[in-house]
Amino acid sequence: MGSFKLGGMTLGSLFKKPETLLYPFETKPAPAGLKGHIAIDATDCILCGICAKTCPADAIVVEKKDRTWSIDPFRCVQCSSCVRACPKACLSMDPAYTPVATAQSCRVVEVPDPKAAATTPASAAETETLTES
Ligand code: SF4
Ligand code: SF4
Repeated sequence: MGSFKLGGMTLGSLFKKPETLLYPFETKPAPAGLKGHIAIDATDCILCGICAKTCPADAIVVEKKDRTWSIDPFRCVQCSSCVRACPKACLSMDPAYTPVATAQSCRVVEVPDPKAAATTPASAAETETLTES
């Protein structure tokens, strides 16, 4: 009796839509409340480093001399502490899935210099840096 039921289920599943998705080519819509990942609008960043000091996972590095803000998404635990701590409201949680990666990498964002921006329009450049895991 059990094997008839199992056989029926197996045959039935052959004609059903697959329960799984071909991730990452297909993804489910992000559910409400998904924290996603950290996004930065670096144009207002003052490189104060408060976000880095607040981060419990040491995921953020602020290099004042090089004018860079970087995050290791593999360390981030999406706690939002940095978002709440930023005095310039530069950081936010982007409610989208974190892009897949085949190697551990850091997101490095060049923070525009407001003095240079007085002559040329400010824009933040973002680069992806591979780091050793
Ligand atoms: S969300 Fe939390 S863990 Fe992630 S970078 Fe911000 S403070 Fe660090
Ligand atoms: S993102 Fe905010 S908290 Fe972090 S260095 Fe820039 S201004 Fe400071």
